[in-house]
Amino acid sequence: PQSSASASTNSTPYPSVCPCKSKSDFVKIAAMSIQVVAAKMAEGELKDIPVKELAPVSPGPPRAGDKGALKKDTNAAAGPPSCVALVADRAPGDPVSSPSPISSPNPSKMPQASALKRTDPQQNGGEAFVNRDGTVAEAPRMKKIQFADQKQEFNKRPTKIGRRSLSRSISQSSTDSYSSAASYTDSSDDETSPRDKQQKNSKGGGDFCIKNIKQADFGRREIEIAEQEMPALMALRKRAQGEKPLNGAKVVGCTHITAQTAVLMETLSALGAQCRWAACNIYSTQNEVAAALAEGGFSVFAWKGESEDDFWWCIDRCVNLETWQPNMILDDGGDLTHWIYKKYPNMFKKIKGIVEESVTGVHRLYQLSKAGKLCVPAMNVNDSVTKQKFDNLYCCRESILDGLKRTTDVMFGGKQVVVCGYGEVGKGCCAALKAMGSIVYVTEIDPICALQACMDGFRLVKLSEVIRQVDIIITCTGNKNVVVRDNLDRMKNGCIVCNMGHSNTEIDVASLRTPELTWERVRSQVDHIIWPDGKRIVLLAEGRLLNLSCSTVPTFVLSITATTQALALIELYNAPEARYKQDVYLLPKKMDEYVASLHLPTFDAHLTELSDEQAKYLGLNKNGPFKPNYYRY
Ligand code: NAD
Repeated sequence: PQSSASASTNSTPYPSVCPCKSKSDFVKIAAMSIQVVAAKMAEGELKDIPVKELAPVSPGPPRAGDKGALKKDTNAAAGPPSCVALVADRAPGDPVSSPSPISSPNPSKMPQASALKRTDPQQNGGEAFVNRDGTVAEAPRMKKIQFADQKQEFNKRPTKIGRRSLSRSISQSSTDSYSSAASYTDSSDDETSPRDKQQKNSKGGGDFCIKNIKQADFGRREIEIAEQEMPALMALRKRAQGEKPLNGAKVVGCTHITAQTAVLMETLSALGAQCRWAACNIYSTQNEVAAALAEGGFSVFAWKGESEDDFWWCIDRCVNLETWQPNMILDDGGDLTHWIYKKYPNMFKKIKGIVEESVTGVHRLYQLSKAGKLCVPAMNVNDSVTKQKFDNLYCCRESILDGLKRTTDVMFGGKQVVVCGYGEVGKGCCAALKAMGSIVYVTEIDPICALQACMDGFRLVKLSEVIRQVDIIITCTGNKNVVVRDNLDRMKNGCIVCNMGHSNTEIDVASLRTPELTWERVRSQVDHIIWPDGKRIVLLAEGRLLNLSCSTVPTFVLSITATTQALALIELYNAPEARYKQDVYLLPKKMDEYVASLHLPTFDAHLTELSDEQAKYLGLNKNGPFKPNYYRY
């Protein structure tokens, strides 16, 4: 690691954290930033994963007291050079010098909703649906993507779903992977499946399958806009000028194909990698961005509105070729990893590592690891501090207003709002609404969060106390049946009801599907539920996550994730073979700090550097990490 002395001469405002001046520094810094944790999770946290959705491994992850697991953690933490470097980098007495405790993913983020992934936002799971005239219609059932072992042929042509033109909206993606996929193009004029088209880019290349290569210029502009809000990746490109830490890397990716992903792919390419990419979500691809990538020479296989068959076909096109074999995987949801496991297991002989972004995908990896079937090292970028903090608090602080505005055009000033749950998401929602002049009430079950709400100036109430007077109800508890039929019956006319929590269990929507109530779809994602006396409430996204269903995610949030992905790829690709075992690794605080520091210049923020005396006094290394792992930001 860079010494404090040389770091302090660095001309950047963040000398202590960003001392990369050469390729070797770059690789070294990334390497020392990653600490082996071999994270394990409590068994209960996995119980909600639908069995069919998981890779075929039977036992759950280790229990908290699982000695075998802990022993493995300890060994891992002490063994690989990155940890040695990290430990050596700390001052004596640094409280983080022992193996890190396991950072358990939030149980409330467990993927019950993984079943919702890549489903049609307009579909409601097949419940009976009462029409205005009293007739009962059966709503379409949710479609589920089948796994590789269930579908091996690609002879089906695009289904109705695949062909349907989709209006501008974000897909119903799982909450563990975020997309800012607002596509402004209308592809409804061209119903031909991309699989039936022969397209070439301006250089004659045709190793891609996208909607329409002619949209490339438009897509390029979208990418350029995203670049403005992704300062860390742009900084990595600059730092890697002439240096190629990913030289020789062949990265196969399966993520949302959006302008933000394009910035990541082009960064990886600038760092020396070759990329082949498919979409992790059948709705979230920005066609124009895919076109710009194809025009730029990337092998992209994705379009908005893929059928299930298309989805797997695209993944297969990324990996199934003789002339090109991936040596790195970047996955969001675990489908690509699963496909390779099922169809091309020998490919893992050449693969150096997997980087996984989503809760669902990470769980699959832990299960593989537990069953001893994980054959390469994997990085869990989902559970880094910055990602969690930005996704939950800051992202929701912005997107709650966006989601409400797009669906209802509501004015916030003076409106009475009740927010159920004052965790990270609730805090974000409350802060945004308060700033807009709303009168905000909070409900909580936890006295600590309740007291926080009071100290932040919100009225803590029981839902029943304010249910008749509020204009907007927002759930963000991760719990179930927080708003039930009795509450809905008592709401005033025009009350807006929505959910920001992970799954659609928070509002008892099923209780509204009774014969005396009439449902009226007034806009995409907006239903009016009408009572016999004419009272109507406004239900958004049928109780699913409002912001992911109805708005976009700020690019800056995605920048954090993309940066951790890039650094994790660099580390896994460059690590000597012995450094990482066939296990799942977390990104440590030092790497979080590095990712954060790369984003600070955007704000012209000037970070204070510890003096030697201060560092000694606090028992810290001047280069970080600056907080123990148990610190709650
Ligand atoms: P959190 O655990 O920090 O907060 C949830 C809060 O709800 C807790 O303080 C808990 O005490 C409280 N709570 C539980 N049951 C309650 C009830 N019946 N009434 C009132 N309060 C109750 O979790 P978080 O990080 O704030 O996330 C909340 C939910 O939002 C989770 O489901 C999470 O997966 C999801 N999430 C959504 C987004 C998004 O973009 N919309 C982003 C991140 C997380």
